[in-house]
Amino acid sequence: MTRGEFREHGKNTIEYIADYMENIHKRRVVPQIEPGYLKDLIPNEPPAKGEGYERLLDDFEKFIMPGVTHWQHPRFHAYFPAGNSWPSILADMLSDALGCVGFSWAACPAMTELEMIMLEWFGKMIGLPKEFLPFTENGMGGGVIQASASECNFVSLLAARFEVMKELRHRFPFVEEGLLLSKLIAYCSKEAHSSVEKACMIGMVKLRILETDSRFRLRGETLRNAIQEDRNLGLIPFFVSTTLGTTSCCSFDVLSEIGPVCQENELWLHVDAAYAGSAMICPEFRPLMNGIEYAMSFNTNPNKWMLVNFDCSTMWVRDRFKLTQALVVDPLYLQHSWMDKSIDYRHWGIPLSRRFRSLKLWFVIRSYGVEGLQKYIREHVRLAKKFETMLRADPIFEIVGDVIMGLVCFRIRASEEANQQLLTKLNSSGRIHMVPASLNDRFVIRFCVCAENPTDKDIQIAYDIISQAAQHIIHETSTEPLLEDQYLEALEEKGIDTTSVLNHHSPTRRRMSNPNFIAKLWRGFEISEGGPLSPYSPTFEKQPSKEELMSMRNGKDLATKRSFLVRMVSDPKCYNPKIVRHLNMANYRKMSQDVARDRTIM
Ligand code: PLP
Repeated sequence: MTRGEFREHGKNTIEYIADYMENIHKRRVVPQIEPGYLKDLIPNEPPAKGEGYERLLDDFEKFIMPGVTHWQHPRFHAYFPAGNSWPSILADMLSDALGCVGFSWAACPAMTELEMIMLEWFGKMIGLPKEFLPFTENGMGGGVIQASASECNFVSLLAARFEVMKELRHRFPFVEEGLLLSKLIAYCSKEAHSSVEKACMIGMVKLRILETDSRFRLRGETLRNAIQEDRNLGLIPFFVSTTLGTTSCCSFDVLSEIGPVCQENELWLHVDAAYAGSAMICPEFRPLMNGIEYAMSFNTNPNKWMLVNFDCSTMWVRDRFKLTQALVVDPLYLQHSWMDKSIDYRHWGIPLSRRFRSLKLWFVIRSYGVEGLQKYIREHVRLAKKFETMLRADPIFEIVGDVIMGLVCFRIRASEEANQQLLTKLNSSGRIHMVPASLNDRFVIRFCVCAENPTDKDIQIAYDIISQAAQHIIHETSTEPLLEDQYLEALEEKGIDTTSVLNHHSPTRRRMSNPNFIAKLWRGFEISEGGPLSPYSPTFEKQPSKEELMSMRNGKDLATKRSFLVRMVSDPKCYNPKIVRHLNMANYRKMSQDVARDRTIM
């Protein structure tokens, strides 16, 4: 492509993008294709000779668009928002044009310097304590842009691990590092993002997943008790990952209680506010951050809820040296003469190469201004509250958890199956997209306000679509309300315990449950009379095929593996018995003496 062609095609592409955004509401939210759809459309071999750009753009529309989930669609209410805006797109184009790889100050000075300034701006905007900000006089703090919140969780764990290991090595110089490592234990709540579990898995430390209160929040007392139990077992608590705005239901761990516990026990407190952190630009939400002064590290993603395109995950630390000491490696070819006067961001994260991500933060903050961004956040919250009010006014729905930000978790007052059916029906309609979560082992549907400029009408349309589908499911299932009662009576007559069935069917659920499901139960009852009774027993279905059996088994394996992993890392009784042998802190001294003696013998 020549420069002239680039000018021409660039303009066409901008037109295409603008048209796409303008007409996005006319598309299905989720694609209607099956895995492997693209393989039949794109040749197996790459072209030997270059092709014209027009064909590329045509094929993009013809082949790629049918397989796209439209995250910017006004009816996309899944996950959390995927930040996007015109200024951000343009900033990323400029970044792509520069094509810089800014791993050190010298590799692209403007990239490092703008990143520091943006972390100062944004840190101030969300009310972070000055100890975290890069330009605080005599301060130790600093900020960095990582690619994702998962990375922020991981590098904070690495920093905490390095710090505690440094101290342990000093205290127990003769104990093998692997043994010390095997005693480290981190904490998070059961609503924390799975990336915390992954961070501990890669970081090779134990994780104890703690219960939350009735509002899905981690409390100080729960943490304190867990720490005490683990210390009694000879483990070494060192890291707590808390969440402000959990992924499942946007609950807020109580930092003001957890912080003092971390301080008393000298634990590294990390705060993951991937989604909700941006809301702190509105002062009215800052009380949710009370206790932040105890944190060692904090992260939030402007690429979720502040109109900045992926990737842009901002992270601050109270002591930048504690982060970089865990990540520094300094080969000669990366050293430069300004090292004593500047920051080299390659020491702040995992990858060496870095994009010019601060550019889009700069463009977005300047284009909207703090007030424009506050308006955007407040509008999302207002619309979520509106949606909550609409659901509450309708007795078929119930709200699960608090609606604090832009996320509403709800279910229909019906069985788990009916709720699953509802979500499947809605998603497969292509008219709206949402994802589920499990709260207190109950299936809930998450509705998140995601689009940049959603209106009251959008919320009304979403409500109408959901309500219509819910009515349909309930109507379908309420045509034979007595059937299930008859079925239960028949079971009781046969002296069979019906509690397990009833547990799946509260009185309202019983009325609303699906006749097909009940018919299956009847069928199953006929087959399994006198046998063990479970509505989920395979005997209730026709005999599954070999493929179905395999997929059932694989699904079960996965569930078992995951729950085993969680158990392994969260239940001390499942730890390696060799580790449990050294459960008592007092054993440490003896242990190091033993090691010293062994070395002498050797
Ligand atoms: N932490 C929280 C609280 C999240 O909600 C999410 C994703 O939604 C993550 C971490 C992971 O984010 P990322 O995709 O940036 O790694």
